[in-house]
Amino acid sequence: MQQTSPEFAPSSSPGPSLIDDQERYSRQILFSGIGPEGQARLAQSHVAVVGCGATGAAAASLLARAGVGILTLIDRDFVEASNLQRQILFDEADALQALPKAEAARRKIAQFNSGVTVNAHVTDLIPSNIAELLGDSQLILDATDNFETRYLINDFAVQKGKPWIYAAAIGAYAATMNILPRTPSEAPASQSSAWEPTACLACLFPKPPSGPVETCDTSGILSTAVNFAASIQVTEALKFLTGQVSLLRRTLLSFDLWTSERSEISARTPAKDCVVCGLREFSHLAGVNRPHITLCGRNSVQIHEHHRPVDFAAMRDRLSPHGEVRFNNLLLRFERPPHTLTIFADGRAIVQGTTDITVARSLYARFIGS
Ligand SMILES: [Zn+2]
Repeated sequence: MQQTSPEFAPSSSPGPSLIDDQERYSRQILFSGIGPEGQARLAQSHVAVVGCGATGAAAASLLARAGVGILTLIDRDFVEASNLQRQILFDEADALQALPKAEAARRKIAQFNSGVTVNAHVTDLIPSNIAELLGDSQLILDATDNFETRYLINDFAVQKGKPWIYAAAIGAYAATMNILPRTPSEAPASQSSAWEPTACLACLFPKPPSGPVETCDTSGILSTAVNFAASIQVTEALKFLTGQVSLLRRTLLSFDLWTSERSEISARTPAKDCVVCGLREFSHLAGVNRPHITLCGRNSVQIHEHHRPVDFAAMRDRLSPHGEVRFNNLLLRFERPPHTLTIFADGRAIVQGTTDITVARSLYARFIGS
């Protein structure tokens, strides 16, 4: 099996597959919930997965194997050794190359289902690019690791009347919820009664969790919890994509695989006083109070202040006297122990080796430019 590919490519354009689709999907078609009609609908479907970490890799793998025709994958990060325990689309070669996760996922999917079109985007999902990145998909799967992005997805989904599925995993705990926003009134009449709206994320959680938030880097994570969350999330997605909206769960479900504790909170109907789906105030979409610098776990800081393209060759020439530089057409890595700066083509940088925003900002200003 081919494990690496010499060049990066922006997105896939799969050639004709030698595998017969009837044979490939035969066991799934036999399942009465899918059948030949459901399988045909999956082939016409377009799903966006936000985040290609553990949950996103599992969800993308399940969707691609199930035969969802188009996948849009969005991730801002690159593969590291500590990902291999649970991020099922990546291998050792990806970690050694520090391949961007969205691109590594695209390559791996092409190896097991070349009939799926994968649009891989190595970028941070932000207010200014969300419409372009998510506008064409009919369903959005959340596989992010932070509430800021989830509230942004929620704003966008409610504004557009586009369904999304929340999923989260930490330790041995997994949680997921389907969000079916009210279809906008300007939508065609055929869509206006497609579903009864559920609660949105902001109905249940008007404010992000306060205080220190547990992350995979502080609490650890079991691969099984991630795959459990992704399995439920993708099963709900299959129901939606095959037109069986009445079967969708209308609760926030959580399950601890270690203790077997389980809970379900009703999300049956929107909260009357919800600022987002009731008053339709989209503060996250408007970028209000959005930080340009964020802690992104594992001893690193992301800086995204300058949205401008980067000339990697010129940067290599400038940085080489100060440390080791490697680059390809998606990212540049500059090692200056104890710090590593990774700069992406859109001007975004991840500074590893510190959680101190002042230190990160100073390194960025010194070596990348302010
Ligand atoms: Zn709401």
